[in-house]
Amino acid sequence: MNEQEIWKNVLGDIELQISKPNFLTWFKNSKLLEINKKEGSVIIGLPNNFAKEWVKNRYHKIILTSIRNIDETIKHIDYAVISTQAKEKVGEIKNNLTDVQSTLLDIKINNKTNLNPKYTLKNFVVGSSNELAFAAVQAVIKNVGKKYNPLFIYGGVGLGKTHLLHATGNEIMSLYQNKINVLYVSSEKFVNDVVWALKNKRMEDIKNKYRNVDVLIVDDIQFIGGKTATEQEFFYTFNTLYENNKQIIISSDRPPGVLPTLEERLRSRFEGGMTVDITYPDYEMRLAILKAKVQNQGVIIENSILEQIALKVQRNIRELEGVLNKVIFYEQYKNQKITSKKLNEIINEVINSSPKITASDIINTVADFFEITPAEIINKSRKQGVVEPRQIVMYLMRDLLKMSFPQIGEKLGKRDHTTVIHAYEKISQQLVQDHDVGQKILVIKERLFK
Ligand code: ADP
Ligand code: MG
Repeated sequence: MNEQEIWKNVLGDIELQISKPNFLTWFKNSKLLEINKKEGSVIIGLPNNFAKEWVKNRYHKIILTSIRNIDETIKHIDYAVISTQAKEKVGEIKNNLTDVQSTLLDIKINNKTNLNPKYTLKNFVVGSSNELAFAAVQAVIKNVGKKYNPLFIYGGVGLGKTHLLHATGNEIMSLYQNKINVLYVSSEKFVNDVVWALKNKRMEDIKNKYRNVDVLIVDDIQFIGGKTATEQEFFYTFNTLYENNKQIIISSDRPPGVLPTLEERLRSRFEGGMTVDITYPDYEMRLAILKAKVQNQGVIIENSILEQIALKVQRNIRELEGVLNKVIFYEQYKNQKITSKKLNEIINEVINSSPKITASDIINTVADFFEITPAEIINKSRKQGVVEPRQIVMYLMRDLLKMSFPQIGEKLGKRDHTTVIHAYEKISQQLVQDHDVGQKILVIKERLFK
């Protein structure tokens, strides 16, 4: 038997022992490069360094056993990167990775205000769906604390609430040249701060932090409800600021009247200010947003393509952006105009991806990837090798399903939400710093969306 034949046999053997997705991911592009009979060694080639390390760490034993079934003189395996065909593949992974990470990398969040400078009023496209909200924030900017207080903005996922909140904060900062203290927090960050302060007996710090600002912006308030201590602290913070004519701006996925878990007194506070909604953008506006984004990025995409995207992607602006980014990536990477078949594929991928995936899909896919059982991820096992998969599951549930931290904790064996926050932050950080984690998540996401 020559190298090729031996490897074919070995692969047939391995295929029976591991899951199909794992087999395809790790062995589809593998090769037996060399057999050295004299030394009893072989060299196995993998398409990139990540695959090489992974296969070496995970599958060495089964590979060796399979090879020795065919030729028992083999005692040693070396692993190498196949350089020729590797180039394209590595480039692809790198580009994809940039895609995954760009959101994390290109942001330089102001660590005093938590404001993200990438969101401005200038790059916020105004149209019929958000002109009311836009007018309201302009009034707030001109009369900080005096006109609409609190300003309550609500609307569905991906319609621009977070963008508008940051943009408002940024505008206030630049207009008043930092003489006004602005603080942006997600309600989860607020919950987390309060939980931490209670545990460490540092409530004073929290009070100082939140009650000494001129403008407090709280994003996604729907996550604050139902936790008595935090809700109470928020209520007091709110009152203190309000009584001192400080500005409060709040966003939510639904109007204050129907926030299910919110205490009545807080609800009526919210309703006492100005409430505006952001609704779904119409075709004209969707097209305007696409054109603005293309212009901002300095790329050229044909109008007919933008029109098709605007026509078909209707649910929200995040998806609109998602499709556009993929199209830009595709055209730049392939260096050719996108076909309408490919465009439809991309659109379907983006439109159908998010709602179809469930929490169980994530648990199962991650478990399969790491070759552990779903139960091991959910249970309290501290076995080596389950901690990282579990943290990745938590990260993906947050990232892909937008589940709240308590919901994720609940799904994963009733873990505390602070554990989930820790996991989420850890993985987010590693995504920027640690190449391997990015690659793992990339492979997992690919499988999830297939
Ligand atoms: P939400 O907080 O309502 O879920 P985001 O503010 O995160 O939505 O918006 C999702 C994406 O869409 C962001 O990248 C944001 O910049 C973009 N976006 C939303 N509305 C607009 C708009 N009016 N003009 C330009 N970009 C927008
Ligand atoms: Mg948001």
